[in-house]
Amino acid sequence: MKIKSINPYTEEINWTYDALSFGNCEDQIEKSRAAFSGWGSLSVEERTVYIARAAKVLRQNRRVYAEIITKEMGKPIRHSLAEIEKCAWLCDYYVANAAGFLRDEIVETEAEKSYVTYEPLGAVLGIMPWNFPFWQVFRFAVPTLIAGNVCLLKHASNVPGSALKIEKVFTEAGLPENVFKTLLIDAKTAMEIIDEDLVDGVSLTGSVGAGSEIGEIAGRMIKPFVLELGGSDPFIVLEDADIDRAAEVGVRARFLNAGQSCIAAKRFIVIEDVVVDFIEAFELHMQELKIGDPMDEDTDIGPVAKKEFLDNLEKVLKDAKKKGAEPHVYGEEYEKGYFFRPTLVPAASTDMKVLNMEVFGPIAPVVMAKDENDAVKIANSTEFGLGAEIWSADLKRAERLAKRIRSGFVTINGRVKSDPRLPFGGTKKSGIGRELSYYGLKEFVNIKTIVVN
Ligand code: NDP
Repeated sequence: MKIKSINPYTEEINWTYDALSFGNCEDQIEKSRAAFSGWGSLSVEERTVYIARAAKVLRQNRRVYAEIITKEMGKPIRHSLAEIEKCAWLCDYYVANAAGFLRDEIVETEAEKSYVTYEPLGAVLGIMPWNFPFWQVFRFAVPTLIAGNVCLLKHASNVPGSALKIEKVFTEAGLPENVFKTLLIDAKTAMEIIDEDLVDGVSLTGSVGAGSEIGEIAGRMIKPFVLELGGSDPFIVLEDADIDRAAEVGVRARFLNAGQSCIAAKRFIVIEDVVVDFIEAFELHMQELKIGDPMDEDTDIGPVAKKEFLDNLEKVLKDAKKKGAEPHVYGEEYEKGYFFRPTLVPAASTDMKVLNMEVFGPIAPVVMAKDENDAVKIANSTEFGLGAEIWSADLKRAERLAKRIRSGFVTINGRVKSDPRLPFGGTKKSGIGRELSYYGLKEFVNIKTIVVN
């Protein structure tokens, strides 16, 4: 089988690789497992030295890595550069904090001494998506490595160049051989690896379908797993909000990465008194978006990552139109490249696909709510629970509402953004477990109790 990377802007093939067979993977994983005995027995402080070097490598080569991201999945180069810097920041954060987070914890009991100690598990497989090809991998790998595990990466099949470059970052940082390894494999082989008991844990960021399949196998094999899945984040605008600011940030929250983000604002829920003003302001800010060549420094929106996404997005709009919506489309049409023009769907209703499924592209539906209770009800009427935004001048009121939203993250008067210092993950069908911060570091460790009498 071939793994092919296609440039979504030029529609040309970037590069093609042969996928590894299961048999070849077994040999590779064997080598990683052998590397675990050395890596896992280093102190956390010793391991952080390598991660600090990885941050340096990222910053030194940021342009090279950013261009690969843009070529493989169409993200505007400015944002690809920011993605690399964010990976380096994540490394800095764990270098500064991991030793403290993983220190033994003394617990007072009637014994002479009792404490909790954190030990690595072994080889952990990361199955990652293409939408933030470096960030998603670093978010998984850095805490997992610093805790003493070795990492195997099965990246999305459309970003093999990024997958191989990430392996190189760690090699150049001097990590011992086979401590971080990229396996160019398909989804079926990834499932076989778990099923054949070759790894000690799995972390998947991807769709609900993939999460359900991986969770089933990992559960059967009694492996710890983390699932970071989809989202349909509500963006609630109350009548006392700063409407123009909410609209400006809302445009960014929806259209960043051409709408292909799990924490993109996917449903704008606006109190009826201010809905006309909000839509007007939102449209003005939409018109400022520059759509075009993702290698151009000024571009805000590039093409979507894969050709087949265009059909899916068209279907969502067709469904909305059939149910009475009148979408407003912005920007010029492109002959070449997988462009989908930013689209606003005013007066969307909850029976439309645009509101009741995760739309991974630049479509912004606005739905009207009678009051704050209605807004919360609409916000929670989804199978997802990843992030949410609430806009109001009354912070106490907004915080009260934040507690009523069933999600893993709520931002008041701002955009939901992952941050190494804060736990990240979802509830309901958005996933299981947490990444980042103290919590992410504890996902792939044996929390061991020792009692001395
Ligand atoms: P997919 O689930 O199709 O792919 C994600 C990864 O999983 C890819 O590496 C893919 O490999 C692999 N994969 C898919 N099915 C299986 C399977 N049965 N067994 C093993 N591996 C599998 O997701 P998308 O690429 O469509 O990514 C977008 C999705 O990811 C959205 O739903 C989005 O919300 C979610 N996401 C969640 C985030 C979060 O933090 N919660 C962040 C970013 C995205 P291959 O490419 O070879 O098929």
